[in-house]
Amino acid sequence: MAAGGEEKILVSVRVRPLNDKETTRNDRCDWDCINDNTIICKFHNLPDKSSYTFDKVFGFECPTKKVYDDGAKEVALCVLSGINSSIFAYGQTSSGKTYTMSGITEYAMDDIFAYIDKHKQERKFTLKFSAMEIYNEAVRDLLCEDSNIPLRLLDDPERGTVVEKLREETLTDRNHLQELLSICETQRKIGETSLNETSSRSHQILRLTIESSNLEFSPESSATLAASVCFIDLAGSERASQTLSAGSRLKEGCHINRSLLTLGTVIRKLSKGKNGHIPYRDSKLTRILQNSLGGNARTAIICTMSPARSHLEQSRNTLLFASCAK
Ligand code: ADP
Ligand code: MG
Repeated sequence: MAAGGEEKILVSVRVRPLNDKETTRNDRCDWDCINDNTIICKFHNLPDKSSYTFDKVFGFECPTKKVYDDGAKEVALCVLSGINSSIFAYGQTSSGKTYTMSGITEYAMDDIFAYIDKHKQERKFTLKFSAMEIYNEAVRDLLCEDSNIPLRLLDDPERGTVVEKLREETLTDRNHLQELLSICETQRKIGETSLNETSSRSHQILRLTIESSNLEFSPESSATLAASVCFIDLAGSERASQTLSAGSRLKEGCHINRSLLTLGTVIRKLSKGKNGHIPYRDSKLTRILQNSLGGNARTAIICTMSPARSHLEQSRNTLLFASCAK
């Protein structure tokens, strides 16, 4: 069973290998992971600092399984103890967010299903899955094949913010989940294609809710547990730092800024302790995720970055975001 460790927000950084494009143009690898926690910038005399420390740092030889094991597993499996959690991938476009998050999602689902298989004689488990995308502050159902109608957010006195009419599938088994994951992937691609772009400007949220109760009454553990784990593949972080571009991109830029910037503010405030107002309501993303971030929820953030010199500025922005989350 997952252990609820002390750290509320686990922050790690993953550097991907140089890609073919970067290698071909003789881009330099600027970064060195000198141990499990520290990454340094090798070639530049940076004005502020060149060494950064996090809960975990994963170099480019590191397989996704290790990123999962050390950077996400404990947080993801909290759901089995009735604790809400969220796992984020943050970073600029092409830094490896989707690569990392899809791997982590698969490993977490494997572990969750293995756990349930092992305990199904004692407990009854009900698993529900939903998936959505936020683009331009509009929420779209990724399990609905013809959903171009944005979904509304409603305030439920008991459950908090709920996404109206979001499809929630009751899972029969691991294969069923796999089918749903591939529908999401297709829906997300269709969305990108219709917007005529290959980079991701949307936030994707996959949510697994698990309810469980003992099959036989026992005074020690009769309680019903219910919690959810969210896997969030964020829009490219360059959107949060980019200056406003002109024309039709303006609105889009503003909105993506809003969700990412609000998330940054919320996470910063949470990491500094619970005092004061936390502006969950300032964006759709943070409203939807409020129960997966606040209260006793656990969060893991995996910040992905390219090692290339040409991306130095964005990589430093990513590391600054990661530092603020600590
Ligand atoms: P993002 O979602 O941040 O835009 P992707 O996850 O799509 O980035 O990654 C961009 C490309 O780099 C993809 O072709 C992906 O397969 C590759 N890639 C990303 N991270 C790694 C990694 N750690 N090892 C090998 N290839 C990677
Ligand atoms: Mg992506």
